[in-house]
Amino acid sequence: MIKLPVTEIFSSIQGEGPYVGTRQIFLRFPRCNLKCPYCDTETIVPKQFRIEINPGSRSFREFENPIDIFELVELLQSYDFSLHHSLSITGGEPLLWADELSSFLPLIKKKNLPIYLETNGTLPSQLLKILSLIDIISMDIKLPFGEEIFWDVHEDFLRKSLAKEVFIKIVVTEKSKLDDLQKARDLIAGINPSLLTILQPVTKVNGCESPKPGQLLDWQRFFLEKLMNVRVIPQTHVFMGQL
Ligand code: SF4
Repeated sequence: MIKLPVTEIFSSIQGEGPYVGTRQIFLRFPRCNLKCPYCDTETIVPKQFRIEINPGSRSFREFENPIDIFELVELLQSYDFSLHHSLSITGGEPLLWADELSSFLPLIKKKNLPIYLETNGTLPSQLLKILSLIDIISMDIKLPFGEEIFWDVHEDFLRKSLAKEVFIKIVVTEKSKLDDLQKARDLIAGINPSLLTILQPVTKVNGCESPKPGQLLDWQRFFLEKLMNVRVIPQTHVFMGQL
């Protein structure tokens, strides 16, 4: 029996990146290998996870963790798959559960629901375990924080992701440094300058402030000097009061 711990499950509107506005089922997993200063997500494994069966009701049912993967599929089928663009597997960092996901995701693929992976882009070996099962990869490039620097691992991850549809998301704050932005830009340009790159102004949290309007415009121009497809998109689900 293969089990997975879950944080929460809900049906909502994708608020980030190029698929903004699409309807997705969100399956959020606990735990993360990073500690981003702007993180707004609980990453501990809860004793129970919650599911909003009736979307938008903010009324939740709770189930014990971890859950058997066949029971998880049944639970997800509370939603009408035909309404949804895809299943977003998110976190935390979902690739920490790649071994279990390699057994779970084929059950979803059988139901013809595409798989959309939201990842921090730092676990390339884990990605390989489930890459064949993924349809779309939303990969972060993390600008350095503290002692943590991720350029090499991001490059490896991005090269592996090219086997699938992939776009890159870079969260920027008013304290983001041009030197780091340049490294991120040049990393992407060195792999494929036409890769879609999203600059995502941080949603104000933990003392992290969103960039000033002029900073965002300058940084987009700076990225466009070497990349062909650079968009600035904030977290729109926050404006809409969506989960
Ligand atoms: S990668 Fe995501 S979940 Fe992990 S600490 Fe950073 S923002 Fe939080």
